[in-house]
Amino acid sequence: MTKYNIDVTLTQTKKEKPNASELAFGKVFTDHMFIMDYTEGQGWHDPRIIPYQPLTLDPASMIFHYGQSVFEGLKAYVTKKEQVLLFRPDENFKRLNKSNDRLCIPHLDEELALEALKTLIQVDRDWIPNAEGTSLYIRPFIISTEPYLGVSPSDRYQFIIILSPVASYYKEGIAPVRIAVENEFVRSVAGGTGSAKTGGNYAASLKAQQLSGTKGYSQVLWLDGVERKYIEEVGSMNIFFKVDGEVITPSINGSILEGITRKSVIELLKHWGIPVSERKISIAEIKEAYAAGKLEEAFGTGTAAVISPVGELFWQNEGMSINGGKTGEVTKKLYDTLTGIQSGMVEDHFNWCI
Ligand code: PMP
Repeated sequence: MTKYNIDVTLTQTKKEKPNASELAFGKVFTDHMFIMDYTEGQGWHDPRIIPYQPLTLDPASMIFHYGQSVFEGLKAYVTKKEQVLLFRPDENFKRLNKSNDRLCIPHLDEELALEALKTLIQVDRDWIPNAEGTSLYIRPFIISTEPYLGVSPSDRYQFIIILSPVASYYKEGIAPVRIAVENEFVRSVAGGTGSAKTGGNYAASLKAQQLSGTKGYSQVLWLDGVERKYIEEVGSMNIFFKVDGEVITPSINGSILEGITRKSVIELLKHWGIPVSERKISIAEIKEAYAAGKLEEAFGTGTAAVISPVGELFWQNEGMSINGGKTGEVTKKLYDTLTGIQSGMVEDHFNWCI
């Protein structure tokens, strides 16, 4: 039992752990999971750690029909001194509650959620891989479990945390990707759910992603859903450009997910004295900057890749090669600094890791 009375039941049959060389993303899960129930009138109750196992749900559970759910994604690293570091987990639970607001899901106690995560990681401590670049990916999520086919907020939920040891995103070092502007499909519009982390957004993005994959692009650059002019995000990452010495990123506008890596990049750039601004950016403006030789760097930011350099941006039948298709200087410095802080190799002046 812990401060929050998290009950712990240990598994009797420990699974075999994968070798570092076999690690992929999100395919292998640890021995335990955290689970807690919500019942209307009673609130959140019965926080517990149990052996990792399938869920038994009524087929009428609302999650299967109307998708009322939210999730988060973050990582834990183990340092060379065997210390476990979590990167800004408080921000993830804050964002989970913001997503809860949008999806009519009752708030979680963020302190309890953090305590639950720390306890679970302690229990599965020996699952955190320690080879360079590897980490333990953490997936907290909430599903609606009331068996009811009416369209309304569920009166029952489960909050669950699962853990998955993952490989370095870049097996052969940080590598630029080719991306294409998406002209047909949109990810979200202001007033929709794009600023929440909810499954439906990702289901809706698959078609564009699949089509761009067949054309040889690894991500799509999403434009705004109304005017189809302004840049929003890249794949499931936030996007930054360096134009004529200034780093710019689309401002938070109600349809963009407010990334924690995005926030950290802005804070780092400010700390380094590199000009950075959040504003509306049109794709035409980026093309003009490219034509004028002022488009210096571009990169995506997100928990999985941390920093993903963009080597080529395709729009209106033309591929714009950025920095000769190579990783830019600021992009690389951000990647090295952030991954260094996350893994305990670079001093964490910001106190981001706990
Ligand atoms: N946008 C979307 C749509 C995402 O799914 C993510 C990943 N959570 C991000 C941006 C980046 O957010 P973060 O830096 O918090 O991982």
